Amino acid sequence: MSGTALETRGLTRRFGAFVAVDGVTLSVAEGARHALIGPNGAGKTTFVNLLSGAIPASGGTVALLGEDVTAAPQHARVRRGLARTFQVNQLFAELSPREAVVLAVSERAGEGGTWWRPVGALPALRREADALLDLVRFPVAGRDGRTGSLPYGRQRLLEIALALAMRPRVLLLDEPAAGVPPAESREVLEAVSALPREVAVLLIEHDMDLVFRFAERITVLAQGAVLADGEPNAIARDPRVKEAYLGT
Ligand code: ADP
Repeated sequence: MSGTALETRGLTRRFGAFVAVDGVTLSVAEGARHALIGPNGAGKTTFVNLLSGAIPASGGTVALLGEDVTAAPQHARVRRGLARTFQVNQLFAELSPREAVVLAVSERAGEGGTWWRPVGALPALRREADALLDLVRFPVAGRDGRTGSLPYGRQRLLEIALALAMRPRVLLLDEPAAGVPPAESREVLEAVSALPREVAVLLIEHDMDLVFRFAERITVLAQGAVLADGEPNAIARDPRVKEAYLGT
């Protein structure tokens, strides 16, 4: 695999006169473990929202696997291979993790809910759901409990399994360690690192320790623009990056 999974060119977003994302050109390789970092207010969240299609761009383009999706709505981007995570604690609180993933898999398969399906189809859905939970290393013993009572780290694993149910080629992870105790967040990032290389991962994260454990490539945003882009060693040594972080 040597192609480009996700590419932006000159991607720009204005809010009135303020330019939150300012001509960002970024390339995420197929199967990459890529991180996007930057001080508070750098434009990371806005950039992710432009990628997913949650908000429209003011200029520039977004391409997924070589196809321009700049004008495509969110669900079309998901179908073309871009998935992001959503918080499960409210959405699926009363379901078990296994039930939640079964639901996501059946949605992807275009079957709607599972309640009306012939019973014979359920074992296949359950097998796929369990395979996804295996992929994210979600412990077997916790799969039938109540999602709303899961420890935060397990919630994150479930959220990633739900995103993987869409069979994405690019997974956007927006601060998966936020609010998660350090031991659990390491577990989450280790699980993500071990995902099959069919999936490229773009991680947006504050925690530098996690970023440097995970990433093979790092893009640094500051004031809406790309400040630096390269291998972790080069980024760690870059005086402009140090200055951008110390300056906040
Ligand atoms: P980060 O995620 O890197 O902290 P954000 O993308 O959240 O940065 O924000 C970048 C800048 O854009 C900030 O100055 C923020 O105040 C501004 N911004 C974000 N969303 C809006 C909005 N809806 N309206 C006006 N300004 C916004």
